Amino acid sequence: MSGPPTEGYAFRVEARDGDARAGVLVTPHGEVPTPTFMPVGTQGSVKSLSPEEVAATGARVVLGNTYHLWIRPGADVVDDLGGLHRFSRWPHSMLTDSGGFQAFSLTDLVKLTEDGFSFRSHLDGQRMHLSPEEAMRVQGLIGADIAMQLDVCPPGDAALPDVQAAVERTSRWAERCLVARRKDQAVFGIVQGGTNVALRREHARTRGDLPFDGLALCGFSVGEPIEKMHEVLEQVASTLDPERPRYLMGVGTPKDLVRGVAAGVDMFDCVLPTRNARNGQALLRSGRIVIKNAKHRRDPRPLDPTCGCPCCTGGYSRAYLRHLFLAGEILALRLLSVHNLHLFGAIMADARRAIFEGRYASFVREFLSEAAEPAS
Ligand SMILES: [Zn+2]
Repeated sequence: MSGPPTEGYAFRVEARDGDARAGVLVTPHGEVPTPTFMPVGTQGSVKSLSPEEVAATGARVVLGNTYHLWIRPGADVVDDLGGLHRFSRWPHSMLTDSGGFQAFSLTDLVKLTEDGFSFRSHLDGQRMHLSPEEAMRVQGLIGADIAMQLDVCPPGDAALPDVQAAVERTSRWAERCLVARRKDQAVFGIVQGGTNVALRREHARTRGDLPFDGLALCGFSVGEPIEKMHEVLEQVASTLDPERPRYLMGVGTPKDLVRGVAAGVDMFDCVLPTRNARNGQALLRSGRIVIKNAKHRRDPRPLDPTCGCPCCTGGYSRAYLRHLFLAGEILALRLLSVHNLHLFGAIMADARRAIFEGRYASFVREFLSEAAEPAS
C-alpha cells in the first residue's frame, strides 16, 4: 500500500485457501472477522431491528446511506448529536456509501458533470449538488468508520466508451476525495469497469497506488447477467492489492456471497435479506420460503430447524408467521428480518471456518448443490 493506513485501522489476512481469505478488519469500533456481510441501515437503522438484534446476527459492520441521512435529518444534525454511532446507538463498525448511487437512482433530472451530481431531493425538491468534496464533507459529519469515494456507476448494459469514461472520472474523483477526506476516517477507493476484465484489472492496479484503506468493486449486479458477474469477479477480485480489504458493493444472494469469497472478496452489503423479509420471504441455504403461501397455513415447523436464530429457536411456526404476515403485523417483518440476517451472518461464519480448515472449495460445491432447490 502506498502510505500507512489511517490511524486506528488495520487489516490482516489470517488464512488463505485458493483466492479465498479469512482475516480481521480493525476499526476504532472494534475487530471485524472477515469475510463479513454488512446489513444495510438506510436511514440510520436496519429496518425494524434494534442495534442489539442486528449485532446478535453476527454483523459487526452496518452500512448507512449518505444520501438519505444528508437530506433527512441532515448531516449537521447527525454531527450535532455526536455522529451516527452515538445517534443510532450502534456500537460496532460502520461504513457509509458516498451518496452518488442514490442521488442518481432516486432523483429526477439528475445532471452528471465533471463536478458531480446535480439533482433535486426526492423529499422536497430542494436543489442539491454532490461533488467529491461534498461527499467527503457529508460523510465526515456522519462520522462512520469507513467512508467511500464518490464514483460513477454506469448501468450493466452501458457501451464500452461510457464504461471507460466512468472509470476515468471515478479515477479523477478518487484524487479529489483523498484531498478532501477527514484524516481520522478510513476511505475506500472504487474500481469500476463494468464486465470488461482488462479495464477492471487496470483500474484495480492503479487504485492500488493510492493511499486508500480498502478497495471496492462497484458496478456489479446492475443488470448484467449474474453468470457474467461471477466470471469477471473470478478474474478481477484477486488482483486487488492483497494487503487491503476488498469490498463487493451491493451483492447479493447467499450463493453470490459464497462465490464472491471464493474469488477473493472480504466484505459484502446488500438490502436483499431485509427487503425480502419485508416482502414475506424467508431465505434458506436451499432456496426460500414464501410465507404467505397456503401450504404454510397449518405448518407447525420453524422456518428452518437447523437455524440458530431467535425466530427458529423461539418456537415460532411457519403457520404463525404466515398469519402475522397476512394480518399486516409488524412482528412478521421483524422475525423474518432477524432470520434472514442471521442466515447471512451464519454463512459468513461457516465460510470463514472452511477457509481456516482449508476446505473452501468443497464448502462451495456443497453450498451450491444445496442452493439449487426452488422456492416453497
Ligand atoms: Zn432462523
